[in-house]
Amino acid sequence: ILENKVAVVSGAGSGIGRAIAVTYAKEGAKVAVADINGAHAEETVKIINDAGGDAFAITADSSKAAENKAIVEKVVAQYGRLDIACNNAGMGGPAKPTGEYEPEEWDRVIALNLNGVFYACRYELEQMEKNGGGSIINIASIHGQVAAPNSPAYTASKHAVVGLTKNIAAEYAQKNIRCNAVGPGYIETPLLSANLDQKAQDAIAAKSPINRLGTAQEIADLVVFLSSDKSSFTTGSYIISDGGYTAV
Ligand code: NAD
Repeated sequence: ILENKVAVVSGAGSGIGRAIAVTYAKEGAKVAVADINGAHAEETVKIINDAGGDAFAITADSSKAAENKAIVEKVVAQYGRLDIACNNAGMGGPAKPTGEYEPEEWDRVIALNLNGVFYACRYELEQMEKNGGGSIINIASIHGQVAAPNSPAYTASKHAVVGLTKNIAAEYAQKNIRCNAVGPGYIETPLLSANLDQKAQDAIAAKSPINRLGTAQEIADLVVFLSSDKSSFTTGSYIISDGGYTAV
């Protein structure tokens, strides 16, 4: 459902971002695979190209404004336009309560999870306006809606991404650009295992009505829908996919 579309995914060298990039390609899009880890981005590109898709890698730090500008320039140099952008790069940050969080730790999480998403949207919107439209999907979290105790910067950044998404939707609907946010629950990825031990993961699964963690593919399938013209009436939405975790 993404034939003739050009897409970019940040943080696409691992986890959810890789699943999104690979699924975009399967659906017919040409994909720019951006990540701070160039070797991991190349691995994602190889998966896509080996399956007959069309992708190339961009090594870039999404927390930097200039690098977000360069990402868009490289996509346009390679493919001539930009139709779909999934701003997925993000980090968890240290686990401690707000009163113990160091300002530098806060700044690092906000720089990537919030500022990085703004910078990305800033340059993507400029290009999408030039090519007559587009769809932006920002990867937030269930912690765009509920607290993640001991991760104050993560919670604040993801709530802010939901707000930014709504603003963009309001500003750009008349320019044929949609913007939505996705709120994954607990998804099996390297980020999750780095932050939660097996016992904690089991406890989370047990608290979910679906009684398991989610997969990166389950998030990618939702993102593909929001990226495609099938979701043409959906903008400014924040869609949680969490196996019912926040519903109970
Ligand atoms: P992951 O750690 O598996 O992958 C993140 C990728 O981002 C890595 O390839 C990493 O190299 C890249 N990255 C890190 N810093 C970067 C930077 N400065 N610039 C560019 N790329 C950078 O993580 P994931 O679990 O796939 O998470 C992806 C997104 O999904 C994040 O925004 C995260 O907050 C969100 N999310 C994840 C979960 C979960 O349970 N895994 C739940 C909700 C939301």
